[in-house]
Amino acid sequence: MKKLLLVIDYQYDFVAADGKLTAGQPAQLIEPAILARIAAFQAAGGDIICTQDTHTSQGWKKGHPEAAAFQIHCEEGTPGWALYGGLADLDLETLTKTSYMLEATDIDWLVRDYDVIELCGVVTDICVLQNAIGLYNHAANNGLTVQFRLCPDCVASFNADNHQWAIHYMQNTLGFGLVASVDEMI
Ligand code: ZN
Repeated sequence: MKKLLLVIDYQYDFVAADGKLTAGQPAQLIEPAILARIAAFQAAGGDIICTQDTHTSQGWKKGHPEAAAFQIHCEEGTPGWALYGGLADLDLETLTKTSYMLEATDIDWLVRDYDVIELCGVVTDICVLQNAIGLYNHAANNGLTVQFRLCPDCVASFNADNHQWAIHYMQNTLGFGLVASVDEMI
């Protein structure tokens, strides 16, 4: 069984107090839990990949659709684009993405390569949820059986109600298994 921990967008701009599009304290508070889950996956021989939301000022000026809702954030190569806190020191594998969801080609190989995919990161009701939906549907459409999981202690949002709603949606509609604690067996 190949197992993957997919850490969504745990980047400076989404987490740090002065990040450009920060989810603030809820996002900062889950750092120890994410680090513990990474360590648990490493100890169990699983893989860890971190997504990095990635924008350029050129793309923004050309009318990136996100510009209608947000200011530019996670500009490639800037400190805001980097992984946040302790994750930045771990030399983790990364995948860049230029919208909410990973590229279709990345979604494709992830659901073909892994038997178990566990999601964590920020924010629960935007990029975590969108990638959950993308991975789930692509696996289902291709007849692939992937066991999806979510660690509720390792996701956060600036909107507590939407955070809870998104966790329930992933559990009830997408059939994600909820990991009870960061120490749970991988
Ligand atoms: Zn973005």
